[in-house]
Amino acid sequence: MSKYDVVVIGGGAAGLSAALLLSRARRTVLVVDSGTPRNGPAGHMQGFLSRDGLPPGELLAAGRREVKGYGGEFLDTSVTDIVRCGTAGFWVLTADGQRVLARRLLVATGLRDELPDIPGLADRWARDVLHCPYCHGYEVRDMQLGVLGGAPDTVRYAQIVRQWASDVVFFAPPGMLTAVQRSELVARAIGIVEGTVQRILVEEDHLRGVEMADGRTIRRAALFVPPRFVPNNRLLLGLGCDVDEAGWPAKDSTGQTSVRGLWVAGNLANPRAQVITAAGEGSAAAIAINADLVDGDVGDAVRAFNLGF
Ligand SMILES: Cc1cc2nc3c(=O)[nH]c(=O)nc-3n(C[C@H](O)[C@H](O)[C@H](O)COP(=O)(O)OP(=O)(O)OC[C@H]3O[C@@H](n4cnc5c(N)ncnc54)[C@H](O)[C@@H]3O)c2cc1C
Repeated sequence: MSKYDVVVIGGGAAGLSAALLLSRARRTVLVVDSGTPRNGPAGHMQGFLSRDGLPPGELLAAGRREVKGYGGEFLDTSVTDIVRCGTAGFWVLTADGQRVLARRLLVATGLRDELPDIPGLADRWARDVLHCPYCHGYEVRDMQLGVLGGAPDTVRYAQIVRQWASDVVFFAPPGMLTAVQRSELVARAIGIVEGTVQRILVEEDHLRGVEMADGRTIRRAALFVPPRFVPNNRLLLGLGCDVDEAGWPAKDSTGQTSVRGLWVAGNLANPRAQVITAAGEGSAAAIAINADLVDGDVGDAVRAFNLGF
């Protein structure tokens, strides 16, 4: 059995950033990672100062090298369960049968993007079916863009996408648009196509457009789709961590959850976090975790001193 000051679950930008800071703080750190970062399907990572355009895997590989350089360790597997171990911390159980003890835990397992069930959509994800204009908008600037409507806030989303192109079409499910929304879209020359989207049209490995249920074909070069964000919170729920009605964990500004000794960072608790934001949250959580460990060390030292050890 191995014991660590901190076990970090999830080795994306949030988890690796925390592991770097903690290993530099001379903490024993283990990162357990199952190897499916959210932006893994994307060819490039944009908007990370000094690393704009880098393939996502290269950032993570560099992060791992840096953590290992300070003595941080890695397990490439999934965590299946976390069990409290009294005041000592937590048992972390892995899919390959290992069991490690952690004084503190950082869970940074990210989120899942659930796409609408439209034939062809998922196959084009991160290529020409996109969700984040800040990640991909510049690369499809001035092209014929579409925005898949649905929830009321997708109208605002279309207005944001309009920042990158003048030819934008909003696909509105029947009966969705209010008069105000319609006039706002028209005011910025955003086309409105009402009806049900039947499937995505692809030719020669490029998105060519959208086929409507009534047979119309609308040519588009890229389609922005708002996914449903689902936090990968199973491990938190197992520990009785407080979450809101959608499953997002309650936390303070450092990522400390309702469970003593357990922190969260990145997309697991913040669906809006870009890579650089997730990394920053990991760093902030790491500083709070180290301070908490120091507090524990002080308490132990005072008790030992008073007992004459
Ligand atoms: C297609 C796409 C493109 C994007 N492009 C950009 C971009 O250009 N720029 C940008 O800033 N942002 C981009 N993003 C957002 C970016 O993906 C997130 O900001 C970032 O991944 C969040 O980092 P994270 O560490 O919180 O989570 P993740 O990067 O998702 O890392 C979570 C890690 O936890 C691991 N994990 C999950 N469960 C377990 C478990 N039980 N045990 C062990 N490990 C586990 C996963 O395997 C994964 O490696 C994009 C997102 C998508 C979907």
